[in-house]
Amino acid sequence: MQEKGTISIHTENIFPIIKKFLYSDNEIFLRELVSNAVDATQKIKRLATLGQYNGDLGDTTVEVSFDKDKKTITISDRGLGMTAEEIKKYINQIAFSGAAEFVEKFKDAKDANEIIGKFGLGFYSAFMVAHTVEINTLSYQDGAEAARWTCDGSTEFEISKGDRKERGTDIILHINEESEEFLDKWKLQGILDKYCKFLPVPIKFETKTESVEDGKDDKGETKYKSVEVDNIINTTDPIWTKSPNELKDEDYLAFYKELYPMSEDPLFWIHLNVDYPFNLTGVLYFPKVKNEFELQKNKIKLFSRQVFITDEVKDIVPEFLMLLHGVIDSPDIPLNVSRSFLQADSNVKKINNYITKKVADKLGELYKKDRKAYEEKWNDIGLFVKYGMISEEKFYEKGKDFALLKNTKDEYFTLEEYKEKVKVAQTDKDDNVIFLYATDAEKQDTFIQSANKKDYDVLVLDSPIDSHFINQLEQKLEKTNLKRVDADVADKLINKDQSFSNVLTEEQSTKVRGIFEKAINNQNFTVEVEGLNPEELPVTITMEEFMRRMKDMAQTGGGM
Ligand code: ADP
Ligand code: MG
Repeated sequence: MQEKGTISIHTENIFPIIKKFLYSDNEIFLRELVSNAVDATQKIKRLATLGQYNGDLGDTTVEVSFDKDKKTITISDRGLGMTAEEIKKYINQIAFSGAAEFVEKFKDAKDANEIIGKFGLGFYSAFMVAHTVEINTLSYQDGAEAARWTCDGSTEFEISKGDRKERGTDIILHINEESEEFLDKWKLQGILDKYCKFLPVPIKFETKTESVEDGKDDKGETKYKSVEVDNIINTTDPIWTKSPNELKDEDYLAFYKELYPMSEDPLFWIHLNVDYPFNLTGVLYFPKVKNEFELQKNKIKLFSRQVFITDEVKDIVPEFLMLLHGVIDSPDIPLNVSRSFLQADSNVKKINNYITKKVADKLGELYKKDRKAYEEKWNDIGLFVKYGMISEEKFYEKGKDFALLKNTKDEYFTLEEYKEKVKVAQTDKDDNVIFLYATDAEKQDTFIQSANKKDYDVLVLDSPIDSHFINQLEQKLEKTNLKRVDADVADKLINKDQSFSNVLTEEQSTKVRGIFEKAINNQNFTVEVEGLNPEELPVTITMEEFMRRMKDMAQTGGGM
């Protein structure tokens, strides 16, 4: 049997175009070929389960190997194999037509960088790193003959009799000159770790040395010896594929450590598991961060059937939840389309909503279950909740029930509770409730004390995100204004019951005020002379809330 033929694609120069597009991300060839090997393995297992294959499955480990001298990388599986007819159908027609379609679609595309790695180039991606690709395969089918296919990246291919004796497939890549960097143990190990770490079939790459017990020595102590064992690079059943009730806290924590070895333990996590109207599993963790500057986005890894796709989850996870860590696995997220398409995809939108809801539900549940514990965690959680409430309408609606405000006495209130609390004493002449807050409790201490004396309560809103949160609360809460404790209005709240005795006469007060005003020489500040009652601050200098916010904004540029 010896046959030559031509792959029917219109574009003769498909190879250079694809290469140009994918050059910067050519490592995905390994992901594609290993996942094909895994697919073939899963298929033969399924056939065996269905009784359509009665032979011995044998060791179905997929093996990746390389030969620096021969300049080859080989991916071997003991999957279902292919007959010559099947190669012609699946490789020549389907795999190549996929590639042709890619070129057709993206020939003139400018956002090549965005497509790279998203398009399931499959088998054809081998040609990004190889000048010639060889398939050596034996189908599981009774009486099948081994077949060998070679192709040099042009549209010409060759099929002949193969020499494989065992069921399965070897894909042999003859690495091209520009790609010789891949003929390196650490390089390959790195790529496998990145993309194949959680594939469902064991994948072997080289061997490793392990120390094993080797009886006892004369003193009765255990002896050890070094042995070479297969280096299996993956965990075949990562926790997100399991059901939550099979898992303990330790399992979630261990998985977190595996993903982010340098991180502190997370605050808590959410196990996602849905199969209608889309399929999605995953575990999202709330990381422990001390301040905004430690926040890292893009820590969520996206998988599709346990194959790593990307950690750019921008359009799949709501913006504010990009701060979370963990994994999401969904075969329903289209991977072979460009960004703009992804945003419009209805599954992606549903997934987005689902995750938002799940996170809100989890927070609500924690709040309800144990308010005390929730308050203790608020320092860490607050950041996410506030960020979410600022950036997502839907989340604000849920978050308003479990967002907490903390006052200078370390007491916590929900928005509703707080409004109830201060409603009476802190209302201005237009009947607006005024929330007083400190941005720096130490610096503003005299103002806080003075406010407390007058029975006003003062909140602590001192993180950078709080200035945005304050704006959001003012927009959302009816007839409520937030004023910094040193704003002049703080002194002009209703406080009918209290009268302050001023030991100075009107004339003396005016004189003192004049001296201060002259010294400050700035229209933006207001000087109030309260008298020399030792219980009171004799003089307060305040800046109106509006002026101060303008000034702050000018300083910080107003952005987050
Ligand atoms: P996809 O995996 O998305 O179907 P590919 O281009 O990766 O597309 O592969 C095309 C087809 O070639 C596969 O669907 C499969 O039928 C066949 N194939 C590829 N690799 C193997 C393999 N190692 N063993 C058996 N069949 C394979
Ligand atoms: Mg494939």
